[in-house]
Amino acid sequence: MKSQTPKTFSFAEAFCSIFGHQLKVSKNVTEHIHEYQCAKCGMEMTDTANGILAQLTPKFKETNKYLANFYKRRRRSRQRHFANAS
Ligand SMILES: [Zn+2]
Repeated sequence: MKSQTPKTFSFAEAFCSIFGHQLKVSKNVTEHIHEYQCAKCGMEMTDTANGILAQLTPKFKETNKYLANFYKRRRRSRQRHFANAS
């Protein structure tokens, strides 16, 4: 097979660069920290401890995994639902 599949994401990337990424929460790490994925181009972002949105690097993934474990243990079995007003 010689032919390569055309890069179908180029439109989405161009769209994002103009209109911004359409980020959706892909994972709740803690109450305040979430991981996001762009519904258009698939780019992953995360909240950081500083409250800044940053690109989800392997290092951040590792940190989030640690935080999620820590958070789960602290939260015990009690579950609360928060309306996300933003
Ligand atoms: Zn995007």
